[in-house]
Amino acid sequence: MIIRSVPLPEDAERPDLIARLRHRLAMHVPVSPFNATSAAPAVSFTFDDAPVSAATTGAALLEDHGARATYYVAGSMLGTRADHWRVLDAGMVVDLHARGHEIGCHSHNHERADLTTGAMLQADILRNHAVLKAIDSSLPLENFAYPFGVGTLIWKRRLKQHFRSSRSVRPQLNHGATDAQYLNAVPLIDRQMDEGHIDRAYEEAARKKAWLIFYSHDVAERPSDYGCTPGLLRYALRAAARFGLRIETVNSALTRISQQAWLLAIPLI
Ligand SMILES: [Zn+2]
Repeated sequence: MIIRSVPLPEDAERPDLIARLRHRLAMHVPVSPFNATSAAPAVSFTFDDAPVSAATTGAALLEDHGARATYYVAGSMLGTRADHWRVLDAGMVVDLHARGHEIGCHSHNHERADLTTGAMLQADILRNHAVLKAIDSSLPLENFAYPFGVGTLIWKRRLKQHFRSSRSVRPQLNHGATDAQYLNAVPLIDRQMDEGHIDRAYEEAARKKAWLIFYSHDVAERPSDYGCTPGLLRYALRAAARFGLRIETVNSALTRISQQAWLLAIPLI
């Protein structure tokens, strides 16, 4: 799938050569391979950093369509005012979880992988986990998204010890051999995506029986450069049914796909 522009990870500055090489290595060396092609094509809606508008306007739109989203939360950001939005607070995390949305993890300090050592990462992941569990011990916290979309091989190996999956921002479908610690995701961001692109992505996902993951941030009539309008989100939710794509959280999709893979492995009698 070709998206209009390959996004720079969130608002990261352009990575230097070493960082790019590390990231490229992370893209191409799998640590948790699985077959993402399944009997039923699917789409997941994910929100990074979880601006308040994603937890209010975004969640309400998902629920209007009988669907739920995945929110990747960084503990250090909770309740803070970031450059482009206000971040949800602890009460909103509990509320989203109670309404059936998935709470996943960013790192606590939301630093780029290539600027973080393995030991720092380990401490940061555990800190984020502890902060979120202290808010609500029933939060599953099974899936992760790379801050700024940047992964490294060291991170992937560490993350595998803690999470079922880690999501990147490589704008491709997930189908066939896929690394659970480097899931692809397509921007649901007005600057990079429009209705025609959504239709083409859905058509390809339906044809390949693939899993499409969208990522976004704020949901507002005048979104930041990293977010979407309610209109674009509503269009993507409605169009999913038209193309026969089920809408699932990341965790639900992983469970279903892994079960189907297991069933398909049973020889027919
Ligand atoms: Zn982020």
